[in-house]
Amino acid sequence: MSLTFFNTMNRQKEEFKPLKSKVGLYTCGPTVYNYAHIGNFRAYMFEDFLRRVIQYYGYEVEQVMNLTDVDDKTIKGSQQAKLPLNDYTAKYKKAFFEDLEVLRIEKAEHYPAATAHIAEMIDIIQVLLDKGIAYQAEDNSIYFSISKFPDYGKLAKIDMENQRAGVRINADEYEKDSVADFALWKAWEEKDGDVIWDSPWGKGRPGWHIECSAMSMKYLGKTFDIHTGGIDNMFPHHEDEIAQSESANGCKFVNYWLHCAHLIVNGEKMSKSANNFFTLRDLLDKGYNDRELRFVLLSTHYRKKLNFTFDGLDQARKSLSRFKDFFKRLNEISATCADETIIDSIISDAMKNFKDAIGDDLNISEGLAAAFNLQNDVNKLIEKNEISNKGANKVLDAYKKFDKVFDFFDVDNSDDEIPPNILELVEARQDARAKKDFAMSDKIRDNLQGQGWLIEDSPKGPRLKKI
Ligand code: AMP
Ligand code: ZN
Repeated sequence: MSLTFFNTMNRQKEEFKPLKSKVGLYTCGPTVYNYAHIGNFRAYMFEDFLRRVIQYYGYEVEQVMNLTDVDDKTIKGSQQAKLPLNDYTAKYKKAFFEDLEVLRIEKAEHYPAATAHIAEMIDIIQVLLDKGIAYQAEDNSIYFSISKFPDYGKLAKIDMENQRAGVRINADEYEKDSVADFALWKAWEEKDGDVIWDSPWGKGRPGWHIECSAMSMKYLGKTFDIHTGGIDNMFPHHEDEIAQSESANGCKFVNYWLHCAHLIVNGEKMSKSANNFFTLRDLLDKGYNDRELRFVLLSTHYRKKLNFTFDGLDQARKSLSRFKDFFKRLNEISATCADETIIDSIISDAMKNFKDAIGDDLNISEGLAAAFNLQNDVNKLIEKNEISNKGANKVLDAYKKFDKVFDFFDVDNSDDEIPPNILELVEARQDARAKKDFAMSDKIRDNLQGQGWLIEDSPKGPRLKKI
């Protein structure tokens, strides 16, 4: 079974052949000027999925996620907040790591901050100047001359024939129709305030794109396996990274480019500028949990737009709650039965389908189908009393394996958290039953139901279920 990814560079699925047994993965990280919204987390969740799938296929991963803590947006934000840049970004860096933990996004091996790598950026810019590929303009800033890199536009598939030569752009973000020489080093301007570094070309600060070229090279080398980001990063950010890195190093920058489509709300990209965003905190405050959010963020294939709705979150809640019940039922099976062949073959088919699916450019629909189909098949066996305790444990183990990648089934914690007052009522009901006071026992059962808890009596004692 091989691993294949859709490589944006060639617009086709390709077999993944890593350079070394440890896969180098660079993921463009947050610009820490605000709380990340769940659109951003769609990108980070896709990268978490990718990382876990690569690991599932037996490779180690060395992942770098940069923190953009100096750029046009962070500087503007810190000035509006009247805070030094570092103090301003520190708050959002902290929040970002807290959010990653809530969502159980696996930790990258490196989280380099741009402000800690200015020297490395200056080194690359100097190489580009020495090679005559970059130049200093009248405004004292240093620009990359796209006419000196014949491959410019190869990722975003830009027709370079009809571009105007020598046009410059100083902003970090711009559209495809403004293809131009872009800033590597921005000479200090009054609007930058005290955000200043020394360089051989005078005081200033780096452009956004050079940050990722410098930090990827430092931690992963001149050529590495995979580079990812949201589709909006493809141009100009990734195009400019390729131009800088390949011109400076004289070799291929990245073997596989993977981009996720946007998370959208009412047909529009979720973004801070459109003011149509929810942060993770907003959704936790509304009572949704990490598992529901992981489910929603993962369950649409990464190259398709994810239409975010509360209905979708409620559906996720229902599906996960059905799985929770299923795990509970499996835990309660005590029968012993010698013939394990049926269950073994059902599980082995499911595991194979699952691995094939996730390895096929992260085919989440088929991967999830393997988990849902296994649930259906096993439920049929449970109804016919054709599953033993040993078989049930094998099924639970299969879901633990799915969770190495999904991490939303949470097989070991399949019990609902029961508040103490509810537990007291359950105990009181047990006392009433022991005293054969069935009127009281029924009254307590109705009371529990009124509070949203269904009680079922099983051979192992009462079982509570949240309604
Ligand atoms: P930023 O903090 O704006 O630099 O974005 C961080 C990451 O989130 C980048 O990889 C973006 O492409 C990604 N991103 C931003 N908005 C969305 C969205 N609505 N859906 C998916 N990814 C997004
Ligand atoms: Zn980047």
